[in-house]
Amino acid sequence: MNKIVVIDADKCIDYGLYTEICPNNLLYIHNGICKVSDEKMCDKSKGCEKVCPTGAIKIN
Ligand code: SF4
Repeated sequence: MNKIVVIDADKCIDYGLYTEICPNNLLYIHNGICKVSDEKMCDKSKGCEKVCPTGAIKIN
């Protein structure tokens, strides 16, 4: 199964603000890298994708 929320750890700069934009509270920072808790809950609103300054997060 393809992932819905794809996070490129190499691009992640621990920019915590985009974890706060998720209306379903799915994003969090762990060891300086953005993670997704339960991507099945993602509504594909893509707010995180638009806000991330390095393009580290993509929604499929
Ligand atoms: S696309 Fe929307 S619901 Fe899905 S992780 Fe990003 S902000 Fe959350």
